[in-house]
Amino acid sequence: MSKRIQFAKTGGSEVLEWVDVEAPVPGTGEVRIANKAVGLNFIDIYFRTGLYPTPSMPSGLGTEGAGVVDAVGEGVTHLKEGDRVAYAQGPLGAYAELHTLPASKVVKLPDFIDFETAAASMLKGLTVQYLLRQTYALKGGETILFHAAAGGVGSIACQWAKALGVKLIGTVSSKEKAGLAMANGAWATINYSEESVVERVRELTNGDMCDVVYDSVGKDTWEMSLDCLKPRALMVSFGNASGPVDGVNIGILNQKGALFVTRPSLNGYADTRERLEIMCEEFFSMIESGKIRIDVANRYPLKEAGKAQDALQSRQTTGSTILLP
Ligand code: NDP
Repeated sequence: MSKRIQFAKTGGSEVLEWVDVEAPVPGTGEVRIANKAVGLNFIDIYFRTGLYPTPSMPSGLGTEGAGVVDAVGEGVTHLKEGDRVAYAQGPLGAYAELHTLPASKVVKLPDFIDFETAAASMLKGLTVQYLLRQTYALKGGETILFHAAAGGVGSIACQWAKALGVKLIGTVSSKEKAGLAMANGAWATINYSEESVVERVRELTNGDMCDVVYDSVGKDTWEMSLDCLKPRALMVSFGNASGPVDGVNIGILNQKGALFVTRPSLNGYADTRERLEIMCEEFFSMIESGKIRIDVANRYPLKEAGKAQDALQSRQTTGSTILLP
């Protein structure tokens, strides 16, 4: 037997249950991982609340973790028992002592990355990799707006942008979060609780506005984000922290300057083993070189995942949160 978090109906964090289940047996092409640390991500809340559908109920939760391979299914060649590994994709169920998933989604951890760092950063770091290096291949010198700059994804984005020589303007809801984003390499911050984001972007850029806006807040910021862009620039809508963007009149892209828009996801970029490995290699090398430091700011026992989700959802956290089995 082993323990996991599951939910039988969607709703608030009270639907999460800490239960005993049969230890999952890896099938062909799969491995079982004894998790040492599990990552907490906003997407876990989207599944729990029902914004994103689960394939079945009751359902496990979570897609990110790090640990040791403890059983290997048939046909797996690149992993063996005892390997130190991490993952950021695959079926829901990472909130567990033991998690079984396709080996193709699992990567070996280099020695310089410990389990907690890996669980705190695989999903978020690979997301920043594709956002800054693929969705828009930043070269240095650009000005970008990045919402939630003191959060898990945001803290990595600030550091990566700085390393690329990109001026990142980060939005935050408090003075403390502004300080953190600046310490991580943001070029400027805007506290949207006190200032108009569009006006401040105009001032900071001398009226030029931004080459790219990275918006994970969604519903509340969609239109304001479009107003922060230069003509023909790119809006990257990659999350729904305030609710999904829907009912968009596509004509608005013309009215606001012949803009481009994309709605990317990690699965859409790390969609083959080869692409996943290239993205990991680049992200891990940013950690090895010291250009990116992962802030494991919050730790909770896995069985208290609901409490951790409430803190994330109510904007109390900064940096990354991990759950410990
Ligand atoms: P964060 O640690 O960034 O937490 C979310 C932050 O969003 C909050 O701290 C808060 O920062 C800000 N926020 C603004 N409005 C709201 C709101 N109404 N409710 C809650 N938070 C709000 O979370 P993650 O690092 O886990 O994820 C960041 C975002 O990136 C999420 O939207 C997530 O879905 C998205 N994402 C998308 C991926 C993809 O591939 N498409 C992959 C990974 C993450 P503040 O108080 O400063 O405003």
